[in-house]
Amino acid sequence: MKKKELLSNLPKIDELLNKKEIQNILNEFPRITVVESIRNQVDKLRKKILKTEDSELINFKIDINDLIKNVFLEVKEANQMSLRRVVNATGVVLHTNLGRALISESIKEALLDVVCNYSTLEFDLSSGKRGLRYTHVEEILCKVTGAEAALVVNNNAAAVLLVLNTMAKDREVIVSRGQLVEIGGSFRVPDVMKQSGAKLVEVGTTNKTHLFDYEDKINEETAAILKVHTSNYRILGFTKEVEAEDLVSLGKRYDIPVIEDIGSGTLIDFSKYGLKKEPTVKESLEKGVDIVTFSGDKLLGGPQAGIIVGRKEYIEKMKKNQLTRALRVDKMTLTALEATLRLYLNEEKAMREIPTLRMLTMSIEELREKANKLYQIIRERVKNIEIDLIDGYSQVGGGALPLEKLPSVLIAVSSKYFTANKIEVSLRNYKIPIITRISDEKVILDVRTIKEEEFEIIAEAIKSIESRDEQ
Ligand SMILES: *Cc1c(COP(=O)(O)O)cnc(C)c1O
Repeated sequence: MKKKELLSNLPKIDELLNKKEIQNILNEFPRITVVESIRNQVDKLRKKILKTEDSELINFKIDINDLIKNVFLEVKEANQMSLRRVVNATGVVLHTNLGRALISESIKEALLDVVCNYSTLEFDLSSGKRGLRYTHVEEILCKVTGAEAALVVNNNAAAVLLVLNTMAKDREVIVSRGQLVEIGGSFRVPDVMKQSGAKLVEVGTTNKTHLFDYEDKINEETAAILKVHTSNYRILGFTKEVEAEDLVSLGKRYDIPVIEDIGSGTLIDFSKYGLKKEPTVKESLEKGVDIVTFSGDKLLGGPQAGIIVGRKEYIEKMKKNQLTRALRVDKMTLTALEATLRLYLNEEKAMREIPTLRMLTMSIEELREKANKLYQIIRERVKNIEIDLIDGYSQVGGGALPLEKLPSVLIAVSSKYFTANKIEVSLRNYKIPIITRISDEKVILDVRTIKEEEFEIIAEAIKSIESRDEQ
């Protein structure tokens, strides 16, 4: 009997909706979410009553305040943005799963100004007539890369697709077997070629391809030679790749254009800053490569985009290709890209203000100082959690400089009371999620990818692991 009574005493949705506390929640959150949550919580209670043994029901009480509290927590959680900010403590600078390159804070205003107002997106101010969306970045791209012409599409995969479709549809493109790479699990050179309508002609072997391998396959059907930067791996040892210069002279002899997908595409010579040399876009073009493609959100440090630079005759054809309309970029991308590229007009400024460049070239002294600071801030807050400073390495990520290990100073978090797993999960579920890794039963935080203004967030998150346990 008691069970039936309890079930009939369950609060009605409408009654709850009229309660003052729920009205307060309704002032802040969408009604649809609140109603859904109330149903959910009442349902949970019903199930609990049904599951409880009759003998134990004597002590069962329906606590409305408790129910309202749960509704509030659930609604708050449900109301969070799915795509939201996290703290990247992994030390992987270009982390594809965490959004790759960070846009420079210095271009925030330019970005908001364009996206929250009407703009010159496709309007020519001097003539008062229709303009082209691509003109905004073409001039600056030519300036910083030395190219004749440029075009920007959705990402580098789209760039390669458009280039091949425009220059080699139904014709042959020669590629070295050692360069038929897969990048990020979704960009596979052979698949993109197929989609473009170009016929793939593979030459050489996985580890060695010679110039004569290319020359042997040239015939009247050959539309282009493609070179792909094997950005996310290296074959070491007994290897041979044909240099871009040699491909260019071969191409010249047979009047065949050379296309290079350089993947990460940097405008900066990283060897000047103590890192391994990555070919710059400018250098590729100077070698005589006809068309170069690269990503906007890898080493360049801008928004997701695929950038195509090179000879005007080809780029003009690409602009007229119907595919370009499908692959076109929006005003947010164009603004962020133009503003990022403008920073490159002054290399010193670019190094300072583009987060990707800044993080990659931080000195070990700077990192040690940063790590010490974070260490102190955490130390002051915790009792049962141990933290240590250890030497280790960060990674570039994003398929750039694959073998480069960047020395860094790491913070190792461990505790007698909580497993590394528990610490990692708690940090990941913090209100601003903190993404870490576990090594040797310790949770590792790499300060290279952590901003100073995030130190407080991290310290509070670690402190909350302790206090939650005390409750
Ligand atoms: C990363 C990469 C791509 C894919 O670029 P997205 O901008 O992610 O589409 C293509 N080719 C190479 C060589 C790459 O490194």
